[in-house]
Amino acid sequence: MPKYVYDFIEGDRGRADLLGGKGANLSEMTRLGLPVPPGFTISTDACRAYLATGAPPDGLFAEVNAHLRDVEARLDRRLGDPRDPLLLAVRSGGRYSMPGMMDTVLDIGLNDSTVGGLAAHSGDARFAWDSYRRLIQMFGRTVHGLPAEDFERELEALRATAGPAGPNAEQLRDLVETYKKIFAAQVGHEFPQAPHEQLYLAIRSVFESWNSQRARLYRHQEHIPDDLGTAVNIMAMVFGNLGPNSGTGVAFTRDPASGAPGVYGDYLANAQGEDVVAGIRNTVGLPELARIDPVSYRRLLEIMATLERHYRDLCDIEFTIERGRLWMLQTRVGKRTAAAAFVIAAQLVDEGLITLDEALHRVTGAQLAQLMFPAFDLAGAPRPLAVGLGASPGAAVGRVVFDSAAAEAADGPVILVRRETNPDDLPGMIASAGVLTSRGGKTSHAAVVARGMGRTCVCGADALRIDAERGEFTVGDRVVRAGEVVSIDGMTGKVYPGELPVRPSPVARYLAGELAPEADPLVVAVHRLLGHADAVRRLGVRANADSGADARLARRLGATGIGLCRTEHMFLGARRELVERLILAEGPDEVTAALDALLPLQRADFVEILTAMDGLPVTIRLIDPPLHEFLPPLHELTARVARAEARGEDPGRDGRLLRAVRRMHEANPMLGLRGVRLGLMIPGLFAMQVRAIAEAAAQRRRDGGDPRPEIMVPLVGDVRELRAVRAEIEPVLAGVPDAPEILLGTMIEVPRAALTAGEIAGAAHFFSFGTNDLTQTVWAFSRDDVEGSFFDAYLERGILELSPFERIDPVGVGRLVRLAVAEGRAAQPKLTIGVCGEHGGDPDSIAFFADAGVDYVSCSPYRVPIARLAAGRAAV
Ligand code: ADP
Ligand code: MG
Ligand code: MG
Repeated sequence: MPKYVYDFIEGDRGRADLLGGKGANLSEMTRLGLPVPPGFTISTDACRAYLATGAPPDGLFAEVNAHLRDVEARLDRRLGDPRDPLLLAVRSGGRYSMPGMMDTVLDIGLNDSTVGGLAAHSGDARFAWDSYRRLIQMFGRTVHGLPAEDFERELEALRATAGPAGPNAEQLRDLVETYKKIFAAQVGHEFPQAPHEQLYLAIRSVFESWNSQRARLYRHQEHIPDDLGTAVNIMAMVFGNLGPNSGTGVAFTRDPASGAPGVYGDYLANAQGEDVVAGIRNTVGLPELARIDPVSYRRLLEIMATLERHYRDLCDIEFTIERGRLWMLQTRVGKRTAAAAFVIAAQLVDEGLITLDEALHRVTGAQLAQLMFPAFDLAGAPRPLAVGLGASPGAAVGRVVFDSAAAEAADGPVILVRRETNPDDLPGMIASAGVLTSRGGKTSHAAVVARGMGRTCVCGADALRIDAERGEFTVGDRVVRAGEVVSIDGMTGKVYPGELPVRPSPVARYLAGELAPEADPLVVAVHRLLGHADAVRRLGVRANADSGADARLARRLGATGIGLCRTEHMFLGARRELVERLILAEGPDEVTAALDALLPLQRADFVEILTAMDGLPVTIRLIDPPLHEFLPPLHELTARVARAEARGEDPGRDGRLLRAVRRMHEANPMLGLRGVRLGLMIPGLFAMQVRAIAEAAAQRRRDGGDPRPEIMVPLVGDVRELRAVRAEIEPVLAGVPDAPEILLGTMIEVPRAALTAGEIAGAAHFFSFGTNDLTQTVWAFSRDDVEGSFFDAYLERGILELSPFERIDPVGVGRLVRLAVAEGRAAQPKLTIGVCGEHGGDPDSIAFFADAGVDYVSCSPYRVPIARLAAGRAAV
């Protein structure tokens, strides 16, 4: 019989796959001797077995009962004992944290007879009946999907009549009767009285909550696989709602927004944990606890210090105080903003807890990307409408919407304004530029989820009176209606009317060389970690740049060369006409004249780029796209010609263009006459480009520069294509006086090139993987058509987790990359190998390329720092 259940003292934090993150960390805290209520964890194996068959695996509940008996023995209390009942919490918790996405049921074990025992034993009948009504509501919601409002309405009505002291025990007992009626009417049977039945049903509903719609949506958003399953943690209840010397809270060992040292958190006296996370009542800051219960506060600080030293990282925790006794209910290495991640990693190095290598693993390229976002320019800003808590940084401007549906329906950027959010608001949060709430702290649902998604969030702006039904909020006597623009600052928590201008981030300014590294703690941290990444990385980082301006920017951002300079971009704008002349040319003389007109323009572009990248390699790709891309579209030409003919005029040049476009029409232009094929079909085209490159380099040398151009041929599939191009261009290179030696290489971007890389390497100085075309041709996905077509359905159904155009497909496309690297190097050990597709700027793909043994990646200038960091991470 397989083992499915693990007591907290059996597990440890290394077993999160099996026990889920929450279970593994409850085990770890138990092992550390911290005060954790006794309990045990049902493994994710059991959940997967349940989800596969729809029934609990054989023997599971017997195993649960055996562990339950242990807990009962330890506490000397039994589930269902009418004199002094043990109550249980049944909590979900998968491998990766999914805050609030799955189910938890508290107070399991209460029924018509045990409620009296709880009242007698606690000496607080009001508490006992309140716990019972909580159970019916929570159980109804999670096990049977009953809407919380049906219960909340009754509770609100009672509160309204009960006066300031709140409902008394008799009133709560009546409320329980009402709740039971609601339950029976909606579900079709009575609320289950048998405690073990409650427990089993709660366990099943936690398993099932893995597949709830909101959990699936969250996983897709966070790229968490759908087949992991959740663990179920079952533990003794402790009560934060037993009067003023009880309470519950959440805390961070450092500020999760800025990374500043110190203890941060929210506390709510006389409450259960759910009340804090839901933001239902306003919490007080953790320092208040020092006044309310200094002994528990000191103990809490000690425990937090222990956890930080043990985990060597920022931890967040959930705790409950029951009549002056502190209990730990959860810990984990805490989520944090991108800024906090850098600042904390650098601090932990200074504190000697981690090494610089480890620090690199505490930050990601995606976080650095976030930090390069701009912030508001506050000069001349209006007075803020309100100030809340800056819960997730960024500067978001948008029209006010009050619900998910409106957020999803809007076309421009929107700010989702809610009293508080809950998991049902997730689609709206995804669709919004920012989230603004009037209630809840930095650990409220809105704050946690927005930080995870990188959305700007201001929470707890309690001056806002939100009336979603009327579609407006008010601050004092000022009314803001749905559709009006507001600007929210996720760092300072300020909410401004109208649209504020935004300015670049300090990190972006530092990276661009406009700010000294000492400027602020965040910039210091980025400087250190990026410096370390540069010191350890083996992968070079070049940029994709087609102009002098881009090349200069890329160089400032740390690029050590250009990996892709697309020459066709130089044929746009005013130069289109010259391309038209080339296409319409009749006879060799006209072709030569057209090419001769293009030559000086190209040469001037190359001089500028080679100047910007002096001393560094510049890989120039010969023209790639089909020529008709430079002509007016067919329908436009057809209409123009038709209009001219209708007026009885000669369409002239348009008529010739139309005939050319018709002649060149292809059903699949991406698989047609482009790249090397075009170069071979229009004699002189490549030769002109190559001459322009060589002459530009020669000119730079005469001017005292150190030009290092490299020539790259696109879309090669057979070594004979490459040889034919070389035969045409080598004499041209040899004929340009003063030109430096220029390397000649090829893109590897069609499957046949990868498959015959050994042969091709014999005719090339270097390879560069064009992973966009390679992905397109390996999958037979048209990159320009898949988005908005079947990809959404593929992602939704879990056929794909991520577009292979965003992150390299390591299995299929990646296999060809590895093969081409191996066979290319076997044929020619000194072959330089790069990557110049979009993937060259994607951190996960960069890790793959580092492992595959390529020499450098090339990406757009703004992604260069991200690629440097990712390359550093890949090396340690
Ligand atoms: P989530 O993963 O959504 O945070 P949890 O399983 O942590 O869900 O539970 C939700 C709330 O229930 C927590 O805030 C916690 O305070 C409360 N809770 C969990 N276990 C217990 C327990 N043993 N006793 C009292 N309250 C508990
Ligand atoms: Mg929790
Ligand atoms: Mg290509």
